[in-house]
Amino acid sequence: MKTVSAFMKSLSTICFPPRCLCCDTTLAPPASLLFCPDCLDAMDFIKEPFCSCCGRTFAAATGDNHLCGNCLTKPPHFTTARAVAHYHEPLSSAIHAFKYNGRTFGLNSFATLYHQHPHPPNVIPDLILPVPLHRQRLRERGFNQALLLARAFFPAERERIDPELLLRRKQTPPQTGLSGKIRRRNLKDGFTVSSPARLTNKTVLLIDDVYTTGSTANECARTLKRAGAREVHVLTLARVAE
Ligand SMILES: [Zn+2]
Ligand SMILES: [Zn+2]
Repeated sequence: MKTVSAFMKSLSTICFPPRCLCCDTTLAPPASLLFCPDCLDAMDFIKEPFCSCCGRTFAAATGDNHLCGNCLTKPPHFTTARAVAHYHEPLSSAIHAFKYNGRTFGLNSFATLYHQHPHPPNVIPDLILPVPLHRQRLRERGFNQALLLARAFFPAERERIDPELLLRRKQTPPQTGLSGKIRRRNLKDGFTVSSPARLTNKTVLLIDDVYTTGSTANECARTLKRAGAREVHVLTLARVAE
């Protein structure tokens, strides 16, 4: 049986050789990380110094983490937001194909990037919550990319991951290309909590694929804290560079 399954595996490798999730280059098997060396080299992993709150990187490559001007003047509702890499090519192609073309087989490779470039919050979360999709969007897409990332990043924390606690109340139009002000207006009161009692005094780690302006993370954090959460930390695979 073992021989048959090994044979089938090598047959599938010949017929469907592993390919880079970003540029589709064929990779030499066995490839556990589905990125070619060129794409890995071109990825812009987040490095310190960055804003100790929102995670925005600073142009000066030296110095300690400190608060950025935005977080000083208007502190967000979350305590920290961290990401693995900046959102641009080639990683953005892989994220796009995952989210919109359903290429979920790259999840383990995304998780490896996270574990190789971790910026974990300095707390152990009680709950790990994916940013929710509206029911209708979930039906169309068939999966919530934030939930799949949460499970891939933290396979041993299944019981802390809850996709039913934070819910999206409103179907918001795609936010790409909209200003921060319009995003905030569209998202206002867009989320709700199904069972506030479960959040009382809890530390939450909120997961999403991309941090763009921070409006979604901030509105989720506002909703969670209003429902009783003590702290909200945010982790995304990528963040848009400002
Ligand atoms: Zn590549
Ligand atoms: Zn900041």
